[in-house]
Amino acid sequence: MVAEAAQLSSTRRVYHFGAGPAMLPPEVIAEIRAELPDYAGTGISMLEFGHRTPEFRALMREADNDLRELMGIPPNYAVLFLHGGAALQFAMAPLNFGGCGAYLVTGQWSAKALHEAERVAQAQTVWDGIESGYTRLPARNEWLPLQNATYLHYTVNETIAGVEFHATPESNGVPLLADMTSMVMSRPVEVSKHALIYASAQKNLGIAGITLAILDPAALRTPPRSTPSLLDYRYCLEAESLPNTPPVFAWYVLAKMLKWVKLQGGVQELAERNRRKAEVLYSVLDSSGFYVSKVEKSCRSRMNVPFRTHTPSLETVFLQQAEAAGLKNLAGHRTSGGIRASIYNAMPETGVAALAEFMRDFERRHG
Ligand code: PMP
Repeated sequence: MVAEAAQLSSTRRVYHFGAGPAMLPPEVIAEIRAELPDYAGTGISMLEFGHRTPEFRALMREADNDLRELMGIPPNYAVLFLHGGAALQFAMAPLNFGGCGAYLVTGQWSAKALHEAERVAQAQTVWDGIESGYTRLPARNEWLPLQNATYLHYTVNETIAGVEFHATPESNGVPLLADMTSMVMSRPVEVSKHALIYASAQKNLGIAGITLAILDPAALRTPPRSTPSLLDYRYCLEAESLPNTPPVFAWYVLAKMLKWVKLQGGVQELAERNRRKAEVLYSVLDSSGFYVSKVEKSCRSRMNVPFRTHTPSLETVFLQQAEAAGLKNLAGHRTSGGIRASIYNAMPETGVAALAEFMRDFERRHG
């Protein structure tokens, strides 16, 4: 298996900086490839595996244990593995947490979460950063008062804007709900300060199709009667995350990713690497008169680094030449344009170093 991983690494000539689905560690892909025809000696591929088999039940238990250990999830918290992506959580959360949510709107994803909450319940905006182009986070004294809010929702890392909360916001006893999709497992988080944490898997935890919900069952409220069963956390909890056929393969990849994180030395170790990786890119941006990074320094994301060149027409050239150099998928989000490097857990430090070198070289040639 190690030899296969080495082979895969040596055949990998590109670094994939896309925001999601994102790069996976080559050794995880190698392991999946090796196991694909026959899972655990059963003669059955994970592509065709039943979710109620003893083997899959064992995998589920292990994934649950590994996740709890890695994230330090309190024993009274529940963990759900769901379908529907983080976007479905935008609606599921308000249905189950009282339907009168307060939202910190710090980028396009929290704006979407707010709009979805307004469709199924009531919601209020505590702060909206759209006027600053989502380039900063609010100070606590800029928040509007939480008016009878049943919860406070925030997006820990805004994948498009590249703005990240580096500390848990203080909600003064109001249940705190967090979208951790683009930073889960990238650094330690204070799980017990949250009533709900959700994250879809395709950035730091594997492939698309599966979504984590980590919640305090005591904080749940009874959803409206018209709520579909699959959008009721309690119903999913009673069914042990199997209210219907789950995304078996995505769950299997997630379980593999958790093992990989453990092998790397855990979340703290990855946090150190992620800090170093982000620093490499931001120091190129800060020492340059050629690249422009608009996000305020105190809230720069360690996962998604958006930037522009002074002359916008050079961005197309940058992206073409980066692609040719094996630095792929660096285009900014389709709504914002520009350039964005997503440097999740699976992006090695060598990939970031290669990008930094390319950026300096490009500046020398075009600056
Ligand atoms: N929240 C954030 C912060 C995201 O980055 C994304 C996806 N890029 C989503 C929510 C939506 O996730 P999904 O596509 O899995 O529904």
